[in-house]
Amino acid sequence: MKLWQDVLGTDVLGSYVSGEVIEGAGERMELVDPSTEVTYTAYRDGGPEVVHRAVEAAHRAGAQWRGLTASERGRILWSVGQAVRANIQELAKLEAQTVGKPLKDAIGETTKVAEMFEYYAGWADKQHGEVIPVPSSHLTYTVREPYGVVAQMTPWNAPIFTAGWQMAPALAAGNTVVLKPSELTPLTSVLLARLAEDAGLPRGSVNVIAGLGPTAGQALVTHPGVGKVVFVGSPKTGRRIAAAAGEQLIPCVLELGGKSANIVFEDADLSRAIGGAAAAIFSGAGQSCVAGSRLLVHKSVHDEVVERLGDLAGRIRQGHPLEEQTQVGPVQNAGQLSQITSMVDAALEGSAHAIVGGSRTDRTGFFYPPTILSGVTNDDPIAREEVFGPVVVAIPFEDEDEAVRLANDSSFGLAGSVWTNAVDRAHRVAGQIRAGTVWVNSYKTINVMAPFGGFGASGFGRSSGRDGLLDYTQSKAVWVETDPEAPLAFGY
Ligand code: NAD
Repeated sequence: MKLWQDVLGTDVLGSYVSGEVIEGAGERMELVDPSTEVTYTAYRDGGPEVVHRAVEAAHRAGAQWRGLTASERGRILWSVGQAVRANIQELAKLEAQTVGKPLKDAIGETTKVAEMFEYYAGWADKQHGEVIPVPSSHLTYTVREPYGVVAQMTPWNAPIFTAGWQMAPALAAGNTVVLKPSELTPLTSVLLARLAEDAGLPRGSVNVIAGLGPTAGQALVTHPGVGKVVFVGSPKTGRRIAAAAGEQLIPCVLELGGKSANIVFEDADLSRAIGGAAAAIFSGAGQSCVAGSRLLVHKSVHDEVVERLGDLAGRIRQGHPLEEQTQVGPVQNAGQLSQITSMVDAALEGSAHAIVGGSRTDRTGFFYPPTILSGVTNDDPIAREEVFGPVVVAIPFEDEDEAVRLANDSSFGLAGSVWTNAVDRAHRVAGQIRAGTVWVNSYKTINVMAPFGGFGASGFGRSSGRDGLLDYTQSKAVWVETDPEAPLAFGY
């Protein structure tokens, strides 16, 4: 908690609005350390009142932010990146403890936050419109305009990463932000907002609400001052967000869950494929939207792949996030642990059997071991629903057509991977997978430069890259008549 006190100059935990930490007056929320199950602090829900103050503050700051030149905005965003870099170790330590993820993973994610601000700093002064050669005497050009105040909602599995991921492009496009992180992990998002404003953003340009979904989150999505909603979270909440945005007639981006297929062909480098499959599902204790939770393996190598993956999984070191040898930490919260347990138990009561894992780790903390389930079909709930834990189902396939059919037989479409040494097959299969991201002989690599998002129940809209920036703008066409004698148009 030292960083919190040093940066914010207060012991009070609450929302960050216009440069101040505001204590909420709503329900008391206790934050529990996932490694020890001990409550380490508490705060009160900001609720609709604090949301209202934050939206007003963001509106005021917007005028100031857009009053700067594009180059000035770019320089400030670059400074935010540098401020994050200067605090990576401390921010990552807090993230590791509150989320339960190994420190080196948290350092990697926090470094990516710095990269996001640096990358979008470069975009700030490169948002050009177009001149359109219309068949009349008009000069017709487009400009891209921000939405004004954008609402962002983020989950608990990667709080600082998802906060930076959405704040940076929103600001680069000229918007200001009210972000509501998960009620379980608000601390690093509040700190990020403070560091960002201390680095030069106008006060009120990034506000963070410490509060609950049904109260603060709902108030934010339905606030009339919000121009666009970007939601990162579960499909269940995503549906509510989209419905609320629809009611307000404002657009939304949904970055939701997945049930991604990791396809291993018989001609793959099996050692790389097995290592990749382990990283795909067990890193972050499987609490990753792109987790490779369905392992589809050609029948001729299925048993070998599953056995070797089982050996590897059995050697993964679970432990406290701050211990150096830890590869996988606990699950973030008790509710998620119980969801994983009940989904695996139900599968084991059916046809599934566990190659490794399959029941809660016997130690204090919300630990669940790497688990591989076999004997499952693609129709079983464990192969169709997102577990959001370190649980993979292994399913054999006969040939390429069946592999593609199984991969696409899912309501989700977030990511997928193809392991093969045949270059024609790699491109053929990558082209047929219905998902927003496909890796070939790799897994989980992402970068702010490349677009990211879902097909189907994994959501719509894109984050990262130029696509992510454009999603924070709307285009306007300006028609200038250049011929004073031109006939005035009636109708279209
Ligand atoms: P969640 O849907 O429960 O919560 C996400 C956010 O929505 C939280 O801030 C929560 O407080 C808020 N919320 C909840 N109810 C709300 C309401 N009625 N109105 C407004 N806001 C509300 O998700 P979670 O359990 O925190 O996160 C896990 C999910 O997130 C998984 O499904 C995972 O796949 C997904 N996820 C997706 C991505 C992606 O980029 N596609 C990235 C990370 C996580």
